[in-house]
Amino acid sequence: MTFKDLDIIEPILRALEGEGYTHPTPIQMQAIPILFKGKDLLGVAQTGTGKTAAFAIPILQQLFINKGKQQGGRGIKALIVTPTRELAIQIGESFTAYGKFTGIRNTVIFGGVKQGKQTHALQRGVEVLIATPGRLLDLMNQGFVSLREVEFAVLDEADHMLDMGFIHDIKKIIAKLPHKRQSLFFSATMPKDIVELSRKILGDFEQVTVRPEQATAEKVEQGVYFVSKKNKPKLLVHLLEESPKDSVLVFSRTKHGANKVVKILDKANVRAAAIHGNKSQTARQKALGDFKDGKIKVLIATDIAARGIDIDELSMVLNYDLPNVPETYVHRIGRTGRASASGIALSFCDKEERPYLKDIEKLIKQEVPRMPEHQFVDDGTEEETEIDDRPARSGNRNRSGNSSKNRGSSGNANSRGGNSGNRRKFSGTRKGFSGKKGA
Ligand code: AMP
Repeated sequence: MTFKDLDIIEPILRALEGEGYTHPTPIQMQAIPILFKGKDLLGVAQTGTGKTAAFAIPILQQLFINKGKQQGGRGIKALIVTPTRELAIQIGESFTAYGKFTGIRNTVIFGGVKQGKQTHALQRGVEVLIATPGRLLDLMNQGFVSLREVEFAVLDEADHMLDMGFIHDIKKIIAKLPHKRQSLFFSATMPKDIVELSRKILGDFEQVTVRPEQATAEKVEQGVYFVSKKNKPKLLVHLLEESPKDSVLVFSRTKHGANKVVKILDKANVRAAAIHGNKSQTARQKALGDFKDGKIKVLIATDIAARGIDIDELSMVLNYDLPNVPETYVHRIGRTGRASASGIALSFCDKEERPYLKDIEKLIKQEVPRMPEHQFVDDGTEEETEIDDRPARSGNRNRSGNSSKNRGSSGNANSRGGNSGNRRKFSGTRKGFSGKKGA
């Protein structure tokens, strides 16, 4: 199937061609016809599946056609609400790219920066508004935004929005939307409260589900290193030094952890930057920009900051910590292997994180391939000296006092699939990557 088969109009087809999109992704194939029929849509899908284009293309097309018919006034016709500034900016970039031959204007509003430029853009007039909830409400209250003419309302990453505590803001925004509208609701997961919220927003809807394991298993090569917490920095530096040209997104569970990793890398003369909620918007944009431009090769991010970040040419995702929520693993590794590209996702797993690994494997219905043995192996007897900032669990730590960095031991879980040679000799490198593509 091609985009032409989906009845996409020429100005948009031309733009998609310019973007190098040859074929629609599964969510685009399924969602675009539903939206052309005028139905509401419930999209159970994560970023990385091409969901932005799945809603941006039909919205742009319908706005373009209506514009030709001189319908409606000059107000905002499409509203996209999304949880983070980074996502908002990316969605704005997508609308600009796909709509560049349509004359449909968009602007992006988000908090953490002065509002002057945003209100100026709004006053010039836009058809498409992409917004984070707080700033949107703020500018609505100040009278800069009216939702009266909205025909298309998109709630993006709804589960994430709820996680971030935006539920009341969302309800206030929904209350201001016209009844007659087409609504689109996207969420990677569908827990009970999300189902309830979707019912509030959607009318006569159809559902499209792109399972996360589909995205994960098909495109991303995965591997896990069993490594003690103490040795994670050494293994990280080693892997990065091994492939200095690759751009690597490193995930840390906490902001504090992300800063710590930057310091570790700094000491090892590896240029890196961190993005997380405690960083200013300017610092986050700069770090992201430098990373996208290839000025820095390593970006450390927390989940909230990184979710949905779209970086072309991302060679690898590295989970410095395993997430305690298995779905987060899927979101993380989805940062590489976007749309049609393939990617690599490696994870560090210390003794206390093994239950997390089990949960992840249950969710993705496959075993994450074990990386070959390496000198920083976690054989469970390592003395832990670092302060732990992860969520508390009841597991018993071995505090035997034995430093066992290079000690060999048999029967360790990570001898699976690895070579059984001397652990003193580092062999668990990416060159020794034996992680086959997921089934
Ligand atoms: P999204 O899930 O919307 O964040 O999209 C993930 C990535 O896929 C982005 O980099 C898009 O530019 C890219 N993409 C979206 N649709 C297609 C397509 N049909 N062909 C190739 N790449 C695409």
